[in-house]
Amino acid sequence: MDTESYVLPVREVIRETADACSIAFDLTDEAAGKFDYKPGQFLTLAVPSEQTGLVARCYSLSSSPVSDQPLTVTVKRTVDGYASNWLCDNLKAGDTLRVLPPSGIFTPASLDVDLLLFAGGSGVTPIISIARTALANGTGKIVVFYANRDQDSVIFAEEWARLSAENPDRLIVVHWLESVQGLPTQDQLKAFAATFSTYTSFCCGPAPFMKAVSTALRELEFPRERRHQEKFVSLGGNPFGDVEEIRAAEADLAAADDADEPADDGPSFGPVKVEVELDGEDWTFEDWDGKKLLLDFLEEKGVPAPFSCREGNCSACACVVLEGDLSMKHNEVLDKADLDDGIRLTCQAQAQSETLKISFNG
Ligand SMILES: Cc1cc2nc3c(=O)[nH]c(=O)nc-3n(C[C@H](O)[C@H](O)[C@H](O)COP(=O)(O)OP(=O)(O)OC[C@H]3O[C@@H](n4cnc5c(N)ncnc54)[C@H](O)[C@@H]3O)c2cc1C
Repeated sequence: MDTESYVLPVREVIRETADACSIAFDLTDEAAGKFDYKPGQFLTLAVPSEQTGLVARCYSLSSSPVSDQPLTVTVKRTVDGYASNWLCDNLKAGDTLRVLPPSGIFTPASLDVDLLLFAGGSGVTPIISIARTALANGTGKIVVFYANRDQDSVIFAEEWARLSAENPDRLIVVHWLESVQGLPTQDQLKAFAATFSTYTSFCCGPAPFMKAVSTALRELEFPRERRHQEKFVSLGGNPFGDVEEIRAAEADLAAADDADEPADDGPSFGPVKVEVELDGEDWTFEDWDGKKLLLDFLEEKGVPAPFSCREGNCSACACVVLEGDLSMKHNEVLDKADLDDGIRLTCQAQAQSETLKISFNG
């Protein structure tokens, strides 16, 4: 993972449905090796805007990292949304976009387990990447429950049919159409999932759908480690700011802070020792004041920690706490089970212990 953005040429824009398009990118020499990804991860795109210069939005990869498909995201129009409509209306082959490398923790730890995949609408994007990858490189069975408004809204309808025909012993895809069956209720989802109670689940879709699936799975006593979900939200911040400029501004702020009375914000104990694992490299620092947000501190130290929104709204900067503890000033994305698993958003994290060990290798 990386914090620098890359300008990627658009190879192709594919109209998937009236409301959705896929954007396939080519990799430049500079970007090669920076865009390796796991199924279920997302890219952050800088969408041009005359009003604000750019709008940053996350889009999950629908392609599979183990196929020869180009790096592809799939965007569904949000009613009155800016970025999704701009992408679907304006982007064409040969254009370029600034893109942050892949991030995210919505990815199977093993491709060999049996998978129960729930998708609603555009939530199919990370789900099809997981399914494609597990079919190609895994050994388990895969059951997909895909809910849509009507037949015309089904993204990748032909691809699901092809994958099912090619993998009759491993893949079952159940399409649920609101126009025919109404919205799936929690009881219906529970009855469906009951047959697959030993599977590992991944769910992505509109909030009410995810809530119904999550409650159904909890009632069926799916343990936390077999329940995963991805929330689609719009970023409020801009992770594409010039990194040097941000660091300089932060250094100015830190100097101003030093001159002032220390703010009553964060832990009261002294310097914190923090050990960090990231992409096979280890760092140890002994001079974190524990109050400065951990991501800011790591960036100051030159650690290429991943991030996207910087507002606690996405999981790009998530780490796992191996020793010690971190509190967060703001968190819109991790649920209680994530917190119990030691996952924290470094962009919002302050120390809760004098020694700390964290890992970004998830
Ligand atoms: C991890 C993750 C993965 C995701 N994956 C996908 C995916 O695979 N597919 C998908 O479709 N979605 C995905 N999303 C959701 C996606 O990031 C956006 O939230 C979604 O596309 C809606 O964005 P939007 O800009 O169209 O709508 P909104 O966020 O609702 O846009 C409206 C906002 O834009 C502002 N605005 C309006 N006009 C302008 C202008 N001219 N300039 C600047 N700002 C303006 C308005 O003030 C308003 O706040 C994902 C989100 C996350 C966090």
